[in-house]
Amino acid sequence: GLPPYDESNIFARILRGEIPSRRVHEDEFAVAFHDINPQAPVHVLVIPRGAYVSLADFAASASDAEIAGFWRAVGRVAKELGLEAHGYRALTNMGQEGGQEVPHFHVHLFGGRMLGRMVP
Ligand code: 5GP
Repeated sequence: GLPPYDESNIFARILRGEIPSRRVHEDEFAVAFHDINPQAPVHVLVIPRGAYVSLADFAASASDAEIAGFWRAVGRVAKELGLEAHGYRALTNMGQEGGQEVPHFHVHLFGGRMLGRMVP
């Protein structure tokens, strides 16, 4: 089963403003900020304000309004950052074998260079 939500995870602290981040967007449902260890010229993380461990938790437990608001924010952030014209990648890691490190659901946005084929 899914682990319980850990209120002390790093993104919970960023949401509460306890740890600084370079925010690029915030609205009712989502907050977006630059990744501290960028893997592309633009590497931003978009997270829901709600306390969800992963995509599995978000998909199962978030309201339709939260899901719609969150994904709309992902698209808006990409557009606001100027990624839409040339394209970008949106990715989420889920759980141990998915390589998820921070247990608050987040979508990575990568752009600003040719990303090549996705592996795997
Ligand atoms: P995951 O592997 O969980 O999908 O990705 C976690 C991401 O969070 C990594 O890309 C990592 O660089 C980023 N990250 C970890 N700690 C911090 C932090 O304190 N601030 C920011 N802005 N990003 C972080």
